Amino acid sequence: MYPIVHSTAGILIAKQTASIPLAFFLALIFHFVLDFFPHDCESLDTWMKKDNNKIKKYFYIALADFILIIIMAAILFLTLDFPNPYVILAGIVGGYLPDFLWGVHKVTKWKFLKPYCKFHSWVHNIWQAKLKTYQMVIIQIGLLAFFLWAIIKL
Ligand SMILES: [Zn+2]
Repeated sequence: MYPIVHSTAGILIAKQTASIPLAFFLALIFHFVLDFFPHDCESLDTWMKKDNNKIKKYFYIALADFILIIIMAAILFLTLDFPNPYVILAGIVGGYLPDFLWGVHKVTKWKFLKPYCKFHSWVHNIWQAKLKTYQMVIIQIGLLAFFLWAIIKL
């Protein structure tokens, strides 16, 4: 799942609690629940592996995604009345952190992150299903739209 989907889920979770640690840890756990469901597509995988720019591609995708998270969060903070913005922030960070750590390991190859990255990939691969591009788009945009709707309504 793109980090923006995880962060949006994190906001939704955080909105249901007043506790910063609870918002953080529930968003973190829910990250892996979402990652369990198939959401990768064949064409994107092939494109990623096409040349030796994999890290560069990941970086630009992550950067674009991060900018979108900032914009989305800013709009939500300006339009909705969150009782405690720090709880919401904790949810965003909790949802974002697993993919951030994965990215840090990709770039730095830090050994202490290796077991964690293995776990992250393992969760991704439990339910092996390669989707068509349109299916991936529907799942990711659909979830994002659902979480946004729920944030506004719940
Ligand atoms: Zn992930």
